[in-house]
Amino acid sequence: MAADTDFDVIVIGAGFAGLHQLHRLRRDGWRVLVLEKAPAVGGTWYWNRYPGARCDIESFDYQFSFSSELLDEWKWSERYAAGPEILAYLEFAAERLDLKRDIHLNTIVVSTAYDESQNSWAVTTDDGRMLHATFVVMGVGNLSAIKQPDIPGLGDFGGQWFHTAAWPPDPVDLTGKRVAVIGTGSSGIQTITTIAPAVSRLYVLQRTPNYSMPAQNHVVSEQEWLEVMSGWPERRRLCEWSDAGTPLPPATRAAVDVSSADRDAEYEAGWQRGGISALSGAFTDMFVSEESNAYAQEFARRKIREIVTDPEVADRLSPRHHIGTRRTCVDTGYFETFNRANVELVDLLSEPISRITPQGIELAGRELVVDVIIFAIGFDAITGALDQIRITGRGGLELKQKWAEGPVSLLGLQTADFPNLFFITGPGSPSVLSNMVVSIEQHVDWIADALSYLRSSGFACIEATPSAEAAWMEHVTALVNATLYPRADSWYLGMNIPGKPQVFTVYVAGCGPYRSECEQVVAAGYRGFSLTNPLEPREARTNEQ
Ligand code: NAP
Repeated sequence: MAADTDFDVIVIGAGFAGLHQLHRLRRDGWRVLVLEKAPAVGGTWYWNRYPGARCDIESFDYQFSFSSELLDEWKWSERYAAGPEILAYLEFAAERLDLKRDIHLNTIVVSTAYDESQNSWAVTTDDGRMLHATFVVMGVGNLSAIKQPDIPGLGDFGGQWFHTAAWPPDPVDLTGKRVAVIGTGSSGIQTITTIAPAVSRLYVLQRTPNYSMPAQNHVVSEQEWLEVMSGWPERRRLCEWSDAGTPLPPATRAAVDVSSADRDAEYEAGWQRGGISALSGAFTDMFVSEESNAYAQEFARRKIREIVTDPEVADRLSPRHHIGTRRTCVDTGYFETFNRANVELVDLLSEPISRITPQGIELAGRELVVDVIIFAIGFDAITGALDQIRITGRGGLELKQKWAEGPVSLLGLQTADFPNLFFITGPGSPSVLSNMVVSIEQHVDWIADALSYLRSSGFACIEATPSAEAAWMEHVTALVNATLYPRADSWYLGMNIPGKPQVFTVYVAGCGPYRSECEQVVAAGYRGFSLTNPLEPREARTNEQ
C-alpha cells in the first residue's frame, strides 16, 4: 500500500484542465492527487468573478466532451455563458464525477523538484507537506497569474479597490458609487458595460483602445438546444479540427480578391452573427495581409463612429493596431456605454496617471475623486503561473532559469531536463488562441495516452529531447513570423510585463494542424521524446526521425 504522500501523478490546478486530467487518469488506474490553491474548484472561473464576467466562446463548445452524463444532464442557459454559470458547471462536473475526494483545496504548491535517483518528483506545499509522484501535470492556466497594480500611492487610497481577476466571493455593491476602471481589455470592457447603469459616476481609464465585437448573445431556446445537441458530436469534431477550436466553417476567400461591396457584406454578416471571429473569420488573409487587415480595421472603426454619438470620444475609442493581433474583445453594448451621461472616457495617453491619492486618482492636471478603483489590468500570461512555483529538473536546473530568454518546449507539452513533467496548454501549443476547453481535452488525452503507453511498454520516464524542442520552437516562431501578430504590443508577446522576454510562444496554425502534429509524433513512436526506465535500466528509446 502506497503512503498517503506517494502518488503516480500529482496534478496542479482544479480548473477545466485539472478536473479532466484527474478523471481520465483515475479511470486509467493511476493514483492521482490534485492540488488547488483556491477554496473551491473552478480555476479561472473561481477567481474572475468581476461583474459581467462571461465567456467569449459559445457555451455549446465550452464544455467537456468526454462524459455523456455531463452532456446529458447539463443545459446552458445562454449562447455565451456568464461566469457564475460556468463555475456552477465545473462544481457540477466535480460532484457528478466524484472528483473532490482526490482534490486538496486551499493548497499552494511552492516547489516541485525532480529526483533522478528515484525518478520521482517531490512536491512541496505551503502548509509544509512534501508529496511524491512519478509524474507531475501542470494545469495552472494560461491567464491565472495576475498583473499586480503598481501605481504609486495605492496604499493611501481611502476607498475600496479590486482586481478583476481576484474579485471577492461576496457580492460587491457598487450602486450609486463613483468608480474608476483602469484597463480596457476583455475584463475591463465587460466590467464597464455591466456596472455603468448602477454607479453614479464611471471613469474609464483607457491606455490602448481595443477592438470589440458584439456578442449577439441570447437565451438558448428549447428548440435551439435540441437542434444543436442533436448534431453535437459532429460539431465537436469540427471544433477539434478547426483553427480556433470553434465550429465556424473556415473562410474561403481572401479580402483582397473581392469587391469592396462583397467585403462589407461579409463583415456585416459577421457583425450580425457576432462573437470573437465576427470579422477575423470572414476572409482567409486577415492575419497575413496588411491590406486585408486594414479593410477589417476600417469596418470596425466605422461601427464605433456609428454607435458613439460624440465624434471625439468615438475617435479616442478607435483602435489603430492590426485587428486580431491583440486579443479581440466581445461585448454587449460596450461602445453604447459611452453615450451615457454618467460615463467619462479618460484617455491616459493624453492624461497619464501621476499617482493614487487618498480620494482617488491624480492625472496630469486634475484629480478624479472616486469611492472604488477597479484594476482590469490583466495577467502575466502563459508562463506567469508556472513562474510562481519553483520547478527544478535534472541537475538542479530551474525552469525559470531554463526559460530566461523565453519558453522552450516540445509541442507545449514537455521541456528537456524536466522528465515526466507535463504542461497542459503550455507555451508552444495553440493555448490562448484557441477554445481552451478543446485544447485542454486534447492535452489531457495526449498525456494520459502517453502514460498508458509507458506503462504497457515497460518505460517509466518520458522527456522531450533538446533537439526536438529546438526544432519545434523554430517551427512555432516561423509560423508566427509569417503573420501580423508580432507587430502589436500585446500580452501574447509578454509586453505587458516589464522585464519579461518578448517572445511569441503560441502555435498559430490552429487546433487541427496542431492535433495532427501531435498524432504524428505518437504514430512515429513518440518522435522527439526519450523513453527510458531509469530505475530498471534497459535500452532507452529516442526516436529523432
Ligand atoms: P488585458 O487584455 O491584458 O487588458 C489589460 C488592460 O489594462 C489593457 O487595456 C492595458 O492597457 C491596461 N493596463 C495594464 N496596466 C496598466 C497600467 N499600469 N495603467 C493603465 N492601464 C493599464 O487583460 P484582461 O482584460 O484581463 O484580459 C486578458 C485576457 O483574458 C483576454 O485577452 C482574454 O484572453 C482573457 N479574458 C477572456 C474573457 C472572455 O472570455 N470574455 C474575459 C476576460 C478575460 P495597454 O493595453 O495599454 O497595456
